[in-house]
Amino acid sequence: MGVFDPYKGFGVTFSTMFKKPTTEQYPEEKKATAPRFHGRHQLNRHPDGLEKCVGCELCAWACPADAIYVEGADNTETERFSPGERYGRVYQINYLRCILCGLCIEACPTRALTMSNDYELADDSRQDLIFTKEQLLAPLAEGMEAPPHPLRLGETETDYYLRDPDAPLPWQVASQTDGQDR
Ligand code: SF4
Ligand code: SF4
Repeated sequence: MGVFDPYKGFGVTFSTMFKKPTTEQYPEEKKATAPRFHGRHQLNRHPDGLEKCVGCELCAWACPADAIYVEGADNTETERFSPGERYGRVYQINYLRCILCGLCIEACPTRALTMSNDYELADDSRQDLIFTKEQLLAPLAEGMEAPPHPLRLGETETDYYLRDPDAPLPWQVASQTDGQDR
């Protein structure tokens, strides 16, 4: 040990004493994450409320942590949950396993699965960290109706995937036409 080493050590201590503390006041004060932060997942809906998930299981196969469980089922004309042939009847994500890598959202062919900025995923119950489809589904926005219901954006599923996202929705066009008739 050199003769000046103890003074070097105290130098670090003294310089730290005069720096501004960086204590985070979490959870009272929550900081916004980076815009593209990978947090809790969300299962998205079409503008009429039908689910974008078609139950294909590609997200589950892409997951390196085996955290996703999907069971698909057939839509019927009387009970339709998504525009296509099939929908995700059971959908679960196990947040005890998930490492928030985002490979599942890359694999999803319909952009049904995306990730939010929500990072508060701690719990003291293992069971509560297995999120169900009901927990993951996006809330119903204005103009949406809870499935099951018939196709509202067109006659076929192609009308859902090939439509211009900025084009007015059928019920908006209808209300505009009603307004002109009066
Ligand atoms: S974010 Fe990664 S680990 Fe989590 S469910 Fe998706 S693929 Fe699996
Ligand atoms: S979330 Fe996407 S990849 Fe996963 S089952 Fe649904 S449609 Fe397929």
